[in-house]
Amino acid sequence: MKKTPLEDWIVNRTGIAAGNQAELEAYQLKKILETMDYARKNSAFYKNHLAVIGPGTINSLDDVKNIPFTTAEALQKAPYSFVCVPQQKIDRIVTLNTSGTNGERKRLFFTDQDLERTVDFFNYGMRSLTDRSDRVLVLLPGNTYGSIGDLLKKALARSGVPCTVFGLLTDLDEVEKTIEANQITCIVGIPIQVLYLSRMKSDVFKRRIRKLLLSTDYVPAAMVDELHLKFNCQVFTHYGMTEMGYGGGVECEAQNGYHLREADLYVEIVDPYSGAPVENGEYGEVVFTSLTREAMPLIRYRTGDIAAFSEKSCPCGTFLRTLKKVEGRFNNRIELDDDAFIELKRLDEMILRFEEIVDYQAVLDDDNRLNIEIALYNESHDAHIKEKLSTMIQEYIKNSFSITLEVNVSANQEKKPNQLKNSMFKRKIYDMRKERRNE
Ligand SMILES: [Zn+2]
Repeated sequence: MKKTPLEDWIVNRTGIAAGNQAELEAYQLKKILETMDYARKNSAFYKNHLAVIGPGTINSLDDVKNIPFTTAEALQKAPYSFVCVPQQKIDRIVTLNTSGTNGERKRLFFTDQDLERTVDFFNYGMRSLTDRSDRVLVLLPGNTYGSIGDLLKKALARSGVPCTVFGLLTDLDEVEKTIEANQITCIVGIPIQVLYLSRMKSDVFKRRIRKLLLSTDYVPAAMVDELHLKFNCQVFTHYGMTEMGYGGGVECEAQNGYHLREADLYVEIVDPYSGAPVENGEYGEVVFTSLTREAMPLIRYRTGDIAAFSEKSCPCGTFLRTLKKVEGRFNNRIELDDDAFIELKRLDEMILRFEEIVDYQAVLDDDNRLNIEIALYNESHDAHIKEKLSTMIQEYIKNSFSITLEVNVSANQEKKPNQLKNSMFKRKIYDMRKERRNE
């Protein structure tokens, strides 16, 4: 088994001695202090926010727990107050589609140097799965400068790996042609889109595709199993978000969790309710601090993602920590009356195992009715699927007597047969109960 290429990259970029965890921690502490200093001097938000931390009070990584969190809401409310550089130094602005209560949108800013660091991370991260014999297809947005597809293409070019950026999967026949014409062996994409492609174009998948990198969404285990067993693909997952500068961590050949971008990020897991750090092995919320960002450093940013650090060292032999696979997001669950939850992740595992299903949406309405709309690409099995799913989901929510379940099945075919709905790449449960709308 190949050791994660991120280890050499981190050792190289940080100047620590190979294999020395204590030196990596010392580097991270130094960078956290530098970032705080820089943010205090240059960002209106952090000037205020960090006023509670007196000089000389952060002396170890253990002290970092005393630094206040940065929330998504704060970022959404006043994104410009986070910016640390003059406007002419901003080379890319990303506006995220989650709008706040007053219609504010989260905006993220990057300088050329910030983007270069991401390219550098992608270059080494992609070596976890690709080598020069591979030809990569990217099913992510890539038309504009500094978009994720653009950065990936630049990164792969540095390793001499040919890369075609297609953009999001909209047209199955076009993607099939692109795979054939470019002799693609590896696809990078959003999990549910890649799954859909594999189901609709299984011949070309079987013949050509050896490796997959699934990114930007939590990946249901049922999906990894299906792709691995049916096509004998090696399925790697990537963990990242725009706030991290797109890239956060990538799996090694052990495929047992992510090694992190530790030269640029310091990652913690905290109890989502108390905010206190949790023990290794315990699940909690992922919190990160950027160590090298120029345009918009983020200090102890709460991601809303649920994960845990592994207690064991990775079979690939690296000294780096391993973050276990992300278990979804906190806001992807709905609290019911009796402290029970409906989780998107559980619905995913139940629903997506049916190969005929291409999409679904779950809505909990004001009458406490959970309505699940299922889209199939083939109507012939609908009665069978509806019955099986209703039983499974009913079993899952049976603790809550106030919920009634309604499963509706429709064929996807009335839309353009080869087109996917936008809802496919960020599924969520919609809580339409009046008194507690989520988001
Ligand atoms: Zn590893």
